[in-house]
Amino acid sequence: MNALHDRGVISRYREFLPVTDATPVVSLNEGSTPLIHSPKLSKIVGRGAEVYVKYEGLNPTGSFKDRGMTMAISKACERGVKAVICASTGNTSAAAAAYAARADLACAVLLPAGKIAAGKLLQAFIYGAKVVAIDGNFDDALRLVRELGADGRFEIVNSINPFRIEGQKTASFEIIEELGDAPDIHILPVGNAGNITAYWKGYCEFRDLGRATKRPRMAGFQAAGSAPVYLGHVVENPETVATAIRIGNPASWDGAKAAVKESDGCVDIVTDEQILDAQRWLASEEGIFVEPASAASVAGLMKCFTEEGRATCPFRNFPEGAKIVLTVTGHGLKDPEAPMVHGFKALEAKADAGAVAKVLGVE
Ligand SMILES: *Cc1c(COP(=O)(O)O)cnc(C)c1O
Repeated sequence: MNALHDRGVISRYREFLPVTDATPVVSLNEGSTPLIHSPKLSKIVGRGAEVYVKYEGLNPTGSFKDRGMTMAISKACERGVKAVICASTGNTSAAAAAYAARADLACAVLLPAGKIAAGKLLQAFIYGAKVVAIDGNFDDALRLVRELGADGRFEIVNSINPFRIEGQKTASFEIIEELGDAPDIHILPVGNAGNITAYWKGYCEFRDLGRATKRPRMAGFQAAGSAPVYLGHVVENPETVATAIRIGNPASWDGAKAAVKESDGCVDIVTDEQILDAQRWLASEEGIFVEPASAASVAGLMKCFTEEGRATCPFRNFPEGAKIVLTVTGHGLKDPEAPMVHGFKALEAKADAGAVAKVLGVE
């Protein structure tokens, strides 16, 4: 293959993934996303800590779901599948639809009616998926997908598909390679809990292979109104502005529990207000615009390391100069409505330099 034709995660990490020469690689050059140093978050944490933001919104469809989808769709093609199906809060369907389009597979997506961010819904349509809005929430949609996938008419490409987790673990590999070792703490949002499961798997594998000397403590953050892992029970009617983590019964619940237990980590919650404030803060202070679910990582870091939070934070005794990585999972442009709670409004002026200077206060 021409080296320029595939720069995605399968070609970069082939030896660590369950692929063979018989696997047709379906890729959009996903992965290799920037790990951006944040001076301001580092300062908030203090004690010489270095905080990095893994900006997964820069994947081809705007979220980390592409890492898993290149694997799931490639393996579906290898098996000769003709159609794939998924339940989604929006980003899984965007990724499934795009990769299915590239592979000439039919794609059906089941979405909770009225609960999908505008950009994500548009993505499913434009990539050519068949979109079914169901009268229920994500957990209902996933139950239906399990039923419809059971008889082999469709390949399920939700994160219950183990190839999704395999693809997603490559984010840990990239972080280790870029930092030269694993970080001390890794913070990420938790919805269906596939991603925390995948990151932990990636960190464990590279440590076991001697490519890292340690593994990070994993910190997962859920939205307060949608926090089954934190609460330890299913949430029947999950609610949060962070629609990508609006999940009451996570498919990879056990994976999340294992990651937290084995890494001496934690699962905690942040409120919608904290999420929306953190989203705005990251954009206006560091120039990184992420969707609300992604901002749960930032809100979580702030909760842990501000004055009040520090007293009870499980990481308060972090080593001097600790490296902390936050995954921000999806691009802010996917959901243009949620941040409008801030009431953004343009200043108005006549088309006249003097009038503009006046509203800008630089007369
Ligand atoms: C899918 C998703 C999550 C949640 O990831 P899980 O693997 O379901 O825990 C968080 N943020 C964004 C933007 C997502 O698309």
